Amino acid sequence: MVRLRPEISQIQEYQQGQDARPDAFKLSSNEMPFEPSNAVQAAIAEGIHAANLYPDHGAPALVHAIADMHSVDADGVALGAGSVEVLRQIVTAATQPGDEVLFGWPTYSVYPNLARLAGAEPVAVPLADDRYDLRALAAAVTARTRVALICNPNNPTGTTVTADAFASFLASVPDDLLVAVDEAYVEFSADAKSTTFVPLIQSHPNLAVLRTFSKAYGLAGLRVGYAIAKPEVIAQLKRTALPFGVADLAQRAAAAALQDQETMRRRVRFIIGERERITATLRALGRDVGWSAGNFIWLRTGLETPAVADALAEQGVIARVIEGEGVRVTVGTRAANDRFIASLAAIADGQNPGVGRWAQASRLAI
Ligand SMILES: *Cc1c(COP(=O)(O)O)cnc(C)c1O
Repeated sequence: MVRLRPEISQIQEYQQGQDARPDAFKLSSNEMPFEPSNAVQAAIAEGIHAANLYPDHGAPALVHAIADMHSVDADGVALGAGSVEVLRQIVTAATQPGDEVLFGWPTYSVYPNLARLAGAEPVAVPLADDRYDLRALAAAVTARTRVALICNPNNPTGTTVTADAFASFLASVPDDLLVAVDEAYVEFSADAKSTTFVPLIQSHPNLAVLRTFSKAYGLAGLRVGYAIAKPEVIAQLKRTALPFGVADLAQRAAAAALQDQETMRRRVRFIIGERERITATLRALGRDVGWSAGNFIWLRTGLETPAVADALAEQGVIARVIEGEGVRVTVGTRAANDRFIASLAAIADGQNPGVGRWAQASRLAI
């Protein structure tokens, strides 16, 4: 038997959202339902002729565009092949075996795996009322904690933390603890400007904020994400980056998408409108569904999660299962959302005993 690291076998291989049957709506990966804009497609086409060459590792054009947007210097931006790769850079740069990586639970399923990959210990603090419990998170900090990962808005529950709660958190943890806020969905929150914690980086050298082009900008297939932090932190992240991690076509597409803020905002407005329509409809049907700040709906189905997910799949809606916690359904096209609403209405009052228990338990108290 080949000798490999024992902790690697504790990491589950990444599970992509279930494959859909042809007529099903795949609402399991929080993808945008729009093709890249003409301008983005043109930028990609323009770069194709150079595919025999390595990309520019520093991606100066894209880095400058990102830095300008956030009013920071270019040395305050680190890129990666998706923000998941930037998260890996963060955990790799901050931890060594025996250290702890702190986060709420349920949250983005990749966090514990990145900790294990670095030989560090994942420490999951339960959410309170589906929200990151920052007091509990601060209380869980030990001498071995090296990173706190805060997903805001949180995937999969769609909740946000308040600026006050976050400020208290920052004030109560050691100022040498790296605090990384994953803002993959910030553009979908009702007021993105007041939800983002990027402005706090100025006064908090231990803060890093992560963003992605995969969600609001709709470029999940091209793999671009980034971190904003003080240059001292960014310089260390860059040392852990894989050479040529962000392809030239991805750099070009991301820069073009960033330039066209109006298209991004229009598409995000559509998704927000649909999210509110789905939520209001499900609530009117008596379902206790929270108001999400992401491009997804969260159903807290608990032990009935597999039954609800299977029943949805039977109706042609492929959702993401978070074991023992709930079901996350991406907001998609109008047709997809209509199917989701109709499916939930149909199954909630159906014969499936598991689903029936959840349906009963999730009735709004009125
Ligand atoms: C989708 C997602 C990401 C990362 O996406 P990339 O495609 O790797 O940029 C990061 N964090 C959260 C919470 C996500 O849901």
